[in-house]
Amino acid sequence: MSIESGPATWQGGTSVHDRAQNVCVVGAGAAGLTAVKNLREYGFGVDCYERETGVGGAWNWRHDRSPVYGSTHLISSKPFTQYPDFPMPDSWPDYPHHAQVLAYLERYADHFGLREHIWFGTEVTKVGPAEDGRWDVTISGARGGGSDRTQRYAAVVVANGHNWWPKLPAYEGQEDFGGEIIHASAYKDAAQLRGRRVLVVGAGNTGCDIAVEAAQQAARCWHSSRRGYWYAPKYAYGRPADQVNDLVGALRLPLWLRQRVFHRTLRRTVGDLTRFGLPKPDHKIYETHPIANSQLVYYLGHGSITPVPDVARFTRDGVEFTDGRVAEPDLVIMATGYLPRFEFLPPELLNVDAEGRPRLYLHAFSPTHPTLAVTGLLQPDSGVFSLMHWQAVTIATWLQLREANPPQAAEYWRRHHHQFSERFNKAKVKQSTRHWFEISHVEYLRAIEKALTEMESAL
Ligand SMILES: Cc1cc2nc3c(=O)[nH]c(=O)nc-3n(C[C@H](O)[C@H](O)[C@H](O)COP(=O)(O)OP(=O)(O)OC[C@H]3O[C@@H](n4cnc5c(N)ncnc54)[C@H](O)[C@@H]3O)c2cc1C
Repeated sequence: MSIESGPATWQGGTSVHDRAQNVCVVGAGAAGLTAVKNLREYGFGVDCYERETGVGGAWNWRHDRSPVYGSTHLISSKPFTQYPDFPMPDSWPDYPHHAQVLAYLERYADHFGLREHIWFGTEVTKVGPAEDGRWDVTISGARGGGSDRTQRYAAVVVANGHNWWPKLPAYEGQEDFGGEIIHASAYKDAAQLRGRRVLVVGAGNTGCDIAVEAAQQAARCWHSSRRGYWYAPKYAYGRPADQVNDLVGALRLPLWLRQRVFHRTLRRTVGDLTRFGLPKPDHKIYETHPIANSQLVYYLGHGSITPVPDVARFTRDGVEFTDGRVAEPDLVIMATGYLPRFEFLPPELLNVDAEGRPRLYLHAFSPTHPTLAVTGLLQPDSGVFSLMHWQAVTIATWLQLREANPPQAAEYWRRHHHQFSERFNKAKVKQSTRHWFEISHVEYLRAIEKALTEMESAL
C-alpha cells in the first residue's frame, strides 16, 4: 500500500518531492502519535513532522508552547485518559503528574517504534491541494532554520493541538493598568505568585488550579468568574469523579435524570456554593465543560480566595468588577482559554465559519476534501487519548476504504460528508468558544463505532 518515494518534479520553479501514497501527519503530541501508530498498523507509509525536538506536545513542559504548569496533574483519571491498547502503570496514581503523562507518551512512542517516522525540529508551514488530488506540504526547519522543502502526499492528518494559542479578552482600560497581565500559558510555577496580589480571571480547570495555588502562595487572591459553575470534587463515593459519571452514564438514564442525580450528589457532598460567595450556576450540569477541583471550595472556606464576578474595566491602579467592587492586584492571570489555529492551511479547507470554528464531519474530516483530516480537536467530558486512538483508527480505515473500494468510499462520502453540524452531546451546551468541541465521550464513541462499522462493511 505504501510506496516509499517517487522522483522530484518541478512546479512553479519549486521542486516537489513525491512521497507517493504516504500520509503526512502534522504534530507528535498525543493525537499525532496515535495517528502515526494506527496508520502504520493499517499499512500506510507515514511522515510525521514535529516542530519541537521531542514527542508529547502539550505534556512536554520543555516545549515553548506547552500550557502545563509545575503542579499540573491530569483532570481526567488514568483509565479514562490512556490509549486503549497501552495502559498506564498500575503503580501510578489516579491522576498522574504532567511529567508522568510525558513519560507515558514517550514510552508509547518507543514501544510502537514511532520515532523513526517523525522528523523533529521540522515545522509544516503550508498545506495545499495539489493538481493531482494529493497534497503539497511545505516544511521548514523550526524557528526559521533551514530552507523550505515541498513534499507531495496522498493524505494529510493534522494533529497540531488546540491548547496553545491564547484566547485573550480585551477589557476597557487594560492598556493603562499599572500591574502585570499574563495569560495562563505563561504561568509555570507558584514562585510567580509568591507575595503578590493576584487576580485570576476565568473559572475553567486551569483558572481554578491557579486560584488554589494563589490561595497558598500569594498575599491576596481574587478569582473572577463570568457565571456560576458546578465544581465537582475529583473524588465521589471514593472513586475518581469521571468513573462515577461513567457508571451513571452506563445505566442509560435519560439526561434529565442524570442531571438530577448529579445535582443531588453535589448538593450533598459539596453543598450550596452560594454560601461561599459564588454565583448560583445559571445552567444545568453537563451544559458547561466539567470542572474537577477538590481544593477550590476548601480555600474559599478558608477565606484565602475572594470570589468576584466578571471584570468591568481596568483602571491605572486596579480592576472594577461588574458588581461595583474593586480590587488592586499587581498580577492578573487570564485563564481565559485557547483558540484553535491552523496558520498553514487555508480556512476553507477546514470549513471554518465566520467565528473561526472549523466545522468537520465527526469533528475530524474536512467536508470538502476527503483526504484531509484533523485529529484531537475534541473537548470531552473524560480523557482524550482513547478518543484520539479511535479517531486515528477511523481515519486509517477511511483511507483504506478509498484505496480498496473507491465506489463504496464515494457512496459513503456522499451520505456523510455534509454532516458537519452534528453534535455529540444531548445537553444544551453553553455557546462559547470554550465549548466548540465539547462532546460526551459516550455519544462520540457511539458515532465513531457506527462510522467504523459502516466503513468496514464496505471494505
Ligand atoms: C492545563 C491542561 C490540562 C489538561 N488536562 C487534561 C487531562 O486531564 N486529560 C486529557 O485527556 N487532556 C487534558 N488536556 C488536553 C490536552 O491538550 C490533551 O491531553 C493533549 O495533550 C492534546 O494533544 P494533541 O496532540 O491534540 O495536541 P498537542 O499536545 O498540543 O500536540 C500538538 C503537537 O503539534 C506540534 N505542531 C503544531 N503545529 C505544528 C506545525 N505547523 N508543524 C509541526 N508541528 C506542529 C506541536 O509542537 C505539538 O507537539 C489538558 C490541557 C491543558 C492545557
